[in-house]
Amino acid sequence: MNIRDLTIEELSDLMKDLSEQSYRSNQLFDWLHNKMVLSFDEISNVSKDLKDRIRDKLDIGFPTIYKEYISKIDDTKKYLILLNDGNIIESVLMKYKYGYSLCISSQVGCNMGCKFCASTIGGLKRNLEVHEMLAQVYLISRHNDIKISHIVVMGSGEPLNNFENLVKFLDIINCDKGQNISERNITVSTCGIIDKIKKLADLDRSITLALSLHAPSDEIRKDIMPVANKYSLNDTIDAMSYYFEKTNRRITFEYSLIENVNDGADNANKLVKLFKDRFKNKHIDFNVNLIPVNVVKENNYKRPNIDRVNTFKEILEINNVAVTLRRELGKDISGSCGQLRASVK
Ligand code: SAH
Repeated sequence: MNIRDLTIEELSDLMKDLSEQSYRSNQLFDWLHNKMVLSFDEISNVSKDLKDRIRDKLDIGFPTIYKEYISKIDDTKKYLILLNDGNIIESVLMKYKYGYSLCISSQVGCNMGCKFCASTIGGLKRNLEVHEMLAQVYLISRHNDIKISHIVVMGSGEPLNNFENLVKFLDIINCDKGQNISERNITVSTCGIIDKIKKLADLDRSITLALSLHAPSDEIRKDIMPVANKYSLNDTIDAMSYYFEKTNRRITFEYSLIENVNDGADNANKLVKLFKDRFKNKHIDFNVNLIPVNVVKENNYKRPNIDRVNTFKEILEINNVAVTLRRELGKDISGSCGQLRASVK
């Protein structure tokens, strides 16, 4: 285990085990998660003897930034992060009016097999450890000398398939003795693992949950997302309703528009009907986020022209469905949704 995988309570237990005074755990947590030290040498008020005893019990290594790409179009920055076992993951830093938002990965690769997404092409290598999720935030904050205010868990990987580590990551990043990033500023996106959506709902956190919907029918969804063979669209949307009912947090449906696959006016109308049917007699606060599909060279999917995108959007609007169009950021550095990979190209 890595020292940064420990919550403040676990760090306190460790200090007890080492017969140290309890204030040491707060001190260490501050160095690791507030000051975000990248190496043990940066810690100045802890004795070499204690550092050595910690080293005997735990791994203290940390990932490093391997490469930085800066978009010339919109200042988006993409980072390749080198993990201690040689694997590489990607994270993307975006600047908005309200602050800095970081898109982080939750797994090395992905095995969900969505046909339009680059992250799944090489399959799943492994889950990320808690400190490897934290490292993306810490390394990039330090490198840019900024405070990251928002996190989207939308990089490579299916976060709900790395459930325990995801929740521990949320605990540490949210802790007021560390980065203190509000759960309200964190969005987790899932392709729709129903039992895990319910499990997350039952934890009653304040994070925003986004579902990668991408289709108004099981038939189309099965064509592009293998997960649809396991879970029906109705059950998946009902699980999202359950999330709203438990947490009272507005839910998001992401819909990547792919030319001649799911972007026709008929599909927009079907989508409206689907929401009407599923949310009948319920008040569910939700919005739809349209994402014209980003180019991935291994597949032939095309993004629709702007007229088709607008028509789709207008049909939702006329029917009182809250809808936003996601701006494409970092296009020239392959930093957009679905373009992140587990390897260096
Ligand atoms: N596994 C999670 C999170 C990663 S993907 C999930 O499926 O939600 C983040 C978002 O980008 C998802 O909505 C995903 O469907 C979308 N996406 C994947 N490939 C894309 C592409 N080529 N263009 C646009 N969006 C894409």
